[in-house]
Amino acid sequence: MNLQKIVIASHNQGKVAEIRKMLAPFRVEVVSADELNLPDVEETGTTFEENARLKAETLAKISGFPCLGDDSGLCVDALDGRPGVYSARYAPKDANGKRDFDKAMDKLVGELQSCGTSDWSAHFSCVLALAVPGQETKFFEGRVNGRIVPEKSGDKGFGFDPVFVPDGFDKTFANFLPDEKAKVSHRGRAFDKMIAACFAKE
Ligand code: IMP
Repeated sequence: MNLQKIVIASHNQGKVAEIRKMLAPFRVEVVSADELNLPDVEETGTTFEENARLKAETLAKISGFPCLGDDSGLCVDALDGRPGVYSARYAPKDANGKRDFDKAMDKLVGELQSCGTSDWSAHFSCVLALAVPGQETKFFEGRVNGRIVPEKSGDKGFGFDPVFVPDGFDKTFANFLPDEKAKVSHRGRAFDKMIAACFAKE
């Protein structure tokens, strides 16, 4: 596939920054939904795939450009996979209507503590949907297993990164440099599959 321009169908700045960095080595102009004043698409699906499709196809239709939708979330075993597809909405809104992930992490740790379980295992999942006008939408998925820790640590990344430790490491994602996180993260793994299928290096 020879893509010259791609719109990232997200208004989540942390996610957009990661995606931009991952696409930087490739011959494709990357534009965010914000830059094109495209609307925030309501996530009415019940799976990562449905929501990724919805975001990518809606904005591809409005903009006429290839669009990349990313739906991702944190699934905690002891909470039967919650917050899962509702991860963004798990965070309460602050006075300015912005999602407060500091409070979301406290809420998550509180829920796990009140479960009384010692099993804090969790995984992040990511589904990427690449919608090119006139073509079938393509999907790529990635997952990283790990565990939730009670103390937040690190100032990098976004969302639940300060309380998630991936398997094989002893530090949270918020202590990873962007390139290091991309090598093991759910998004990085989904990207590797998409890049192998769709992009040529400069
Ligand atoms: P959505 O895909 O826009 O519905 O949002 C996914 C939500 O899952 C984000 O707002 C974060 O809370 C969480 N999430 C997804 N990927 C990551 C990640 O790489 N680090 C931390 N949190 C993430």
